[in-house]
Amino acid sequence: MKRKCLICDLGSLEETEDITLDIGGYVFIVKGHRCTNCKEEFPFEAETKKVIDISKKLYKKIEK
Ligand SMILES: [Zn+2]
Repeated sequence: MKRKCLICDLGSLEETEDITLDIGGYVFIVKGHRCTNCKEEFPFEAETKKVIDISKKLYKKIEK
C-alpha cells in the first residue's frame, strides 16, 4: 500500500533519491519520498540527520 501525502491528501508518496536539502548554504542530495501530486518532498529522517552532521563538520573545518 502506498502512503498518502500528508500535505495535499491527494497524491501518493514515491521513493526518490534526488531530494535537494539546503543546509546552511550547502546543498545535499538525499533519499526520501516525493508526493506525486503536490511534489512536496519528505527526506528520510536518517538522511536528514546525516547531512546535518556533515554540514556541522564542514563548518568546523572552515572555523579552523
Ligand atoms: Zn501532496
